[in-house]
Amino acid sequence: MSTELNSAVRIAFDLDRPWRLDERAAIRPEPFGAMLYHFGTRNLSFLKSTTLLSVLTHLAEHPTARAACTAAGVTEAELPTYMRALATLACSNMIIPGDRPWDRRTAPPVSPPAFSRTAGGDTGSAGSRPATVGRLTDVFELGLSSPICLTWELTYACNLACVHCLSSSGRRDPRELTTAECKRVIDTMRRMQVFYVNIGGGEPTVRPDFWELVDYSTAHQVGVKFSTNGIRLDASAARKLAASDYVDVQISLDGATAEVNDAVRGAGSYETATRAMANLAAAGFRGFKISVVVTRHNVSQLDALAKIAEDHGAQLRLTRLRPSGRGADVWPELHPTSAQQRELYDWLAAHGEQVLTGDSFFHLSPYGKPLPGLNMCGAGRVVCLIDPVGDVYACPFAIHQNFLAGDVRQPGGFEAVWQTSPLFAELRQPQTGGACRSCGSFDSCRGGCMAAKFFTGLPLDGPDPECVRGHGEAALGAIRGDHGAGAGTAPRPSADHSHRRVATGRLHDAAAGRPRRPVTVTIGRRPPQRACDEDPLAGFAALEGPVPTASL
Ligand code: SF4
Ligand code: SF4
Repeated sequence: MSTELNSAVRIAFDLDRPWRLDERAAIRPEPFGAMLYHFGTRNLSFLKSTTLLSVLTHLAEHPTARAACTAAGVTEAELPTYMRALATLACSNMIIPGDRPWDRRTAPPVSPPAFSRTAGGDTGSAGSRPATVGRLTDVFELGLSSPICLTWELTYACNLACVHCLSSSGRRDPRELTTAECKRVIDTMRRMQVFYVNIGGGEPTVRPDFWELVDYSTAHQVGVKFSTNGIRLDASAARKLAASDYVDVQISLDGATAEVNDAVRGAGSYETATRAMANLAAAGFRGFKISVVVTRHNVSQLDALAKIAEDHGAQLRLTRLRPSGRGADVWPELHPTSAQQRELYDWLAAHGEQVLTGDSFFHLSPYGKPLPGLNMCGAGRVVCLIDPVGDVYACPFAIHQNFLAGDVRQPGGFEAVWQTSPLFAELRQPQTGGACRSCGSFDSCRGGCMAAKFFTGLPLDGPDPECVRGHGEAALGAIRGDHGAGAGTAPRPSADHSHRRVATGRLHDAAAGRPRRPVTVTIGRRPPQRACDEDPLAGFAALEGPVPTASL
């Protein structure tokens, strides 16, 4: 949303008018105040004041916002502060005039960067209580009552075999959660007020019950964002998605051209993604995401990728290449060089408000001012992963026994894991900083990404492998010899579900003397010998026909 519009709403905000929470906004109380989520705009706000929470909770019961403030104990002197906070919430459609009938067109999905909006600013509360609330990152370090960013990989089955797949996906795991078990997990999320779940895989849409689970989730007030390579997003699916406020879609695309994308994601994957994007755009789905893993080969295409997003009415989402899953094997060859990291930082600094990045690039903050996004590692604090068999890990990029917190099949399910896991309790302790503590940039970088350190064999209390001050490179050099991540002492992921035809390893096939390419797997129709051999696309016809051009 533009600054002009922000100002306009602020100016227009009328304390002497009735206001109420929008029907599509939900509040979750937290020790520091509350979190608000709007299912239509997919905007997340943080209330750093329990008084403001009280105002909001009772807003609709009062004839004016002023009366609601007074009833909550706000003094005349404090009123301007509360008015600003309420104006911020009106600006993001969290609250709407109480005398205005509900109209979904009043709140088009704008999808601003998550984690960026705070009613009342980041260093002070919207009101004066509680006075101890400081930076949100400090609050988040202690953990929240429910995750903000819960990733759920529904299946390891995938029609592609991307060389950097963080979960080494390909074959279905026979122990996959059943439909009934998945629904129980969704019931738990609803109880915990998990606002939305990031569904991924594997390719989640190949699960026969995928749409059933999406519908079940949205019917139970758990919004869904799902990541897909686009294989099942035909025109009809796109229309269904466009009609729902509660579902968001991320299309994976790792290059602005087929050549760059397909070298990583497999032959034909660019065309598949392009067709799905065109279908979404033609169906009128505004603000879907185009999700790009930044590599050495696409970092020069950021402008072109932003243009593709703009042309489709979509939003660009950039994520960091982590050495997780098969990514460990290709990380040395694909992760951006030091010069490219700098280039990436400058690009993000110039475009950051339009681009989603989650927690991907806070390790670049020492280059200058902090970038928009979550500037901390949220593993086990605000982030976690449920894998296809129900195991809960601290982070989607940390699928390893060391980061296994529990299992949704255990008594108490996911809620018990989130609230009582000893691993999560440990991760929620204040960070010591270790070798990074003496670094002048520790406050902004905090030592970087835990998973990136772990899977490159670096100590968790040391610098990130892509430390912008060069300490990670030096530490890697000391342990790796010539072979990079995945060699020597670097731990391997706990499981590998890669298709058997896919040789994992470095991009260059030394034996054949040529670059190794990912393959798009052709899956046979023979009945599977074992459940894990099952065709993830059984009964499914791939999309055919020309790519719609209306929105390209
Ligand atoms: S380990 Fe890395 S990817 Fe995982 S939450 Fe922390 S910073 Fe993010
Ligand atoms: S030394 Fe540590 S804190 Fe400093 S920039 Fe490098 S990774 Fe970040």
